[in-house]
Amino acid sequence: MQIFLEQLHQVLDQKYILTEDQDKNPYLTDWRKRYTGKALAVVLPRTAQEVAQIIRLCAINQVAVVPQGGHTGFCGGATPDSSGKQIVLNLKRMNTIREIDVANQTITVEAGCILQAIQEKAAAQDFLFPLSLGAEGSCMIGGNLATNAGGTNVLRYGNTRDLCLGLEVVTAKGEIWNGLKGLRKDNTGYDLRDLFIGSEGTLGIITAAVMKLYPLPISQWTTLVAADSVVSTITLLNLFQKRATSLLTGFEMMTQESLDLNEKHFPQMANPLKGNPPYTVLIELSDHESEAHVRQLLETILEEAFEASLITDAVIANNLAQANTFWHMREHITLAQAEEGANLKHDITIPLSALESFIEETDALVRAKFPGVRIINFGHLGDGNLHYNIAPPIGVDHKAFNLTNEKPIHELVYAQVERCQGSISAEHGVGQLKLEGLRAHKGEVAHELMKTLKRALDPQNILNPHKVVSI
Ligand SMILES: Cc1cc2nc3c(=O)[nH]c(=O)nc-3n(C[C@H](O)[C@H](O)[C@H](O)COP(=O)(O)OP(=O)(O)OC[C@H]3O[C@@H](n4cnc5c(N)ncnc54)[C@H](O)[C@@H]3O)c2cc1C
Repeated sequence: MQIFLEQLHQVLDQKYILTEDQDKNPYLTDWRKRYTGKALAVVLPRTAQEVAQIIRLCAINQVAVVPQGGHTGFCGGATPDSSGKQIVLNLKRMNTIREIDVANQTITVEAGCILQAIQEKAAAQDFLFPLSLGAEGSCMIGGNLATNAGGTNVLRYGNTRDLCLGLEVVTAKGEIWNGLKGLRKDNTGYDLRDLFIGSEGTLGIITAAVMKLYPLPISQWTTLVAADSVVSTITLLNLFQKRATSLLTGFEMMTQESLDLNEKHFPQMANPLKGNPPYTVLIELSDHESEAHVRQLLETILEEAFEASLITDAVIANNLAQANTFWHMREHITLAQAEEGANLKHDITIPLSALESFIEETDALVRAKFPGVRIINFGHLGDGNLHYNIAPPIGVDHKAFNLTNEKPIHELVYAQVERCQGSISAEHGVGQLKLEGLRAHKGEVAHELMKTLKRALDPQNILNPHKVVSI
C-alpha cells in the first residue's frame, strides 16, 4: 500500500491526499450517521485527467475506490467499508461550471458543482435548472447523477436522468469517455449515458455533465390545502393534472404526524392550516403567463376541490417569502426526523391506483405488530413516491429499537410494496443499505443482467464494490 500512496503523490499534490485520521474523518460517516468506514486515503482530484490517473493506479494495485460528492446520500453508497483498504475519491474540487449554451439551453458542469450553485448560475441567465431537493446546498451534481436523484420537480421536469444530455466518465480502466454532447436526439446504439446514471459509482466515475435548462417561469403560486384521506389527495392530484396540466410543478403530501414532528423540532415551521388536518398537501403552479392568470386558475381549481369535498381548508402564499416557508416546512421533515433520532426509512414508489390500499393496510399491520411506533409518512405524491418512515414509540431508545425491529419492519413494508407492484427505492438508490433486498426485488433475470454489466465494465471490481450489486 505504501507503493500505491507514493504513486498517488506523482499525480496529486500532498495536500490533496489525506491520510491522517483527523483529515479523513469528515469523509467517512454518511449524513444519517448510519455508516462509518475506514479509508487508506481520501483523494481530492481537480481534473478528469487526474481522476483517470488515480483509477489506473487503483487498477494496477487492486485498490477499490469509493466515489463521493456531497455525502448526503441516504443509502451509504459513498461511505467506504471497514477494511481501511479502500480510497475515497471526493470530487468537490471539480466544481467549475464550464459553459452555458444559451441557444441550446444547456449547462455544462463538473461533477463537484453544488446543486444550488448550478441553479443560481442558471437563474442569473434567466434559466431554470429544475432539479431541487432538500440537500441542494451540499449535494453535488455528480452525486445527483450517480443516484438519479428525484426531488420536488419530478412531476413536471422528470428526475436527474431526464435532465441530462451528456456525460464525461472515467472508466474502471482509467480511460476518459467524452460523451459531453448536448443532443436531444442521438440514436447511435446503446445508451452509455443512461448506463452510468443511477449506477452509484459502480460502473464509472462521472466527472462532468451537460444538463438541460428551461425558461425561468415568471409566475409561481404555492398553496397548502387540508385533506381528510389519501383518496382525497389522489383525486385532488388528478383534478390538478386535468385542469392545470403542465403548469402543475409540485404536489407534496405531508401527514399530521410528520408535521407534528417538524413543529416539535422547528417551532417556526408550524402548519398554517388550522386544526392539524390528517393530510396537508403542498401544491405549486408555475407558468410563463401573468401572475393574475395563474392565480385565477389556482383559485378556480381550489373552488372545484372545495365543492367536491376533496379539501377542507386552503391557504395561498401571498408572496415568494411565504411560498418559501411552505417549501421549507416540507423540506424540514427530513431534518426533524434526524433531530428526533435514527429512524427506519422506506423510500418507495407505489402506483397511485394502489396507494390508498397500501397505506391503509401497511399502517394497520405496522401498528398491530409494533405498537406505539410513529409512522412519518410524507412524499412526492405526484410521483407516487412515499417516504414511509418509522420512528420508535416516544420514550423508547432509537438505536435499541432499530436493532431489534429493523429487519422485520423492512420485511413487512417491502412485502407490501411487492404486493402493490411498487419499487423499494424510488429516488435514494441502493448503496449498501438495500444491497441484500435487491435480488429478490429485481428478480433473478434482471439481477443477473446487472451483474453481467458490472463484470463487463469493472472486471476487477474496484469501483465501489459491494454497493448496488455484489459480483
Ligand atoms: C435533507 C436531505 C434531503 C434529501 N432529499 C432528497 C430528495 O428529495 N430526492 C432525492 O432523490 N434525494 C434526496 N436526498 C438524498 C441525497 O441528497 C441525494 O441522493 C443526492 O443526489 C446525493 O448527492 P451527493 O453529492 O451527496 O452524493 P453522495 O452521497 O456523495 O454519493 C451518492 C452515491 O453516488 C456515488 N457518487 C457520488 N459522486 C459520484 C460521481 N461523480 N461519479 C460516480 N459516482 C458518484 C457515490 O459513490 C454514492 O454511491 C436528500 C438528502 C438530504 C440530506
